[in-house]
Amino acid sequence: MKHKITDIQGTFRLHNGVKMPYLGLGVYQAEDGSEVINAVSWALELGYRHIDTASIYKNENGVGEAIRKSPVSREDIFLVSKVWNSDQGYEETLRAFHTSLEKLGTDYLDLYLVHWPVAGKYKHTWRALETLYGQGKVKAIGVSNFLQHHLEDLLQTAQVIPMVNQMEFHPFLVQQGLINFCHSHKIQYEAWSPLMQGHIFEHSVFEELAARYNKSVAQIVLRWDLQKGVVTIPKSSKKEHIKANAEIFDFRLKPDDITLLDGLERGQRFGPHPDTFDF
Ligand code: NAD
Repeated sequence: MKHKITDIQGTFRLHNGVKMPYLGLGVYQAEDGSEVINAVSWALELGYRHIDTASIYKNENGVGEAIRKSPVSREDIFLVSKVWNSDQGYEETLRAFHTSLEKLGTDYLDLYLVHWPVAGKYKHTWRALETLYGQGKVKAIGVSNFLQHHLEDLLQTAQVIPMVNQMEFHPFLVQQGLINFCHSHKIQYEAWSPLMQGHIFEHSVFEELAARYNKSVAQIVLRWDLQKGVVTIPKSSKKEHIKANAEIFDFRLKPDDITLLDGLERGQRFGPHPDTFDF
């Protein structure tokens, strides 16, 4: 399937019609205060319109400050946060959401995600997200780290089908079956750790491809995400990397090279497994 990729502010349309910019800035491990404020400010200045944070990243204050200081209007920014595991459950999630809003200094989110499928809790958490969505406090709701069996279970009782599933995704962890499942339910697939938390730079296979396109390894892999129809949120706190990660709209990977990257799948995770995480 072909996905139209245009520029840094281009979007994929979620199943409820909301437009989600397909390139965002991830801010995991960006320290609250000047580090995250600078990263978000630079990203917005460079044209990014999507910021991915979470309550557990403990930098929502800084993200909010950068957004308020920016000349870009709030409504032009796609702001994402996530409910942490210890806050799951119906009432707890409603409270956690409002705490996130307060820290971010905003009165709505563009997307709120269930961070991990906490057994015995995630259906209650989902009901809370449905409530918030119904109240118009969040434009779209979704999940993260949900494998097919988690989604099948959730879909049995869900009133609203998740709009997004944010998963670890890179050439060593493609999980095409899960992507296809999400696609068949109109759930937008989104990549976390698209650069394997930096490990992507250790593998020569990517360098060969990068040399052929006269691009960097990061640019090749991020472009692959977009051409596969996957939203991507590379993280960096360095201005030159934030800039370079968005310079992916002046070339196109050939279908054979997409296939080559797909073929590197080896089920390798750099983060926890959604069935065995213990936090
Ligand atoms: P990533 O794959 O984006 O890699 C980040 C690392 O790559 C950093 O060390 C950074 O310095 C380096 N880097 C980035 N661009 C570079 C460039 N152009 N050249 C050289 N080095 C570069 O890893 P990540 O932070 O784990 O994932 C991205 C985002 O995904 C996070 O910030 C967060 O928002 C989200 N995330 C979500 C979950 C979840 O459970 N939902 C889990 C992890 C991450």
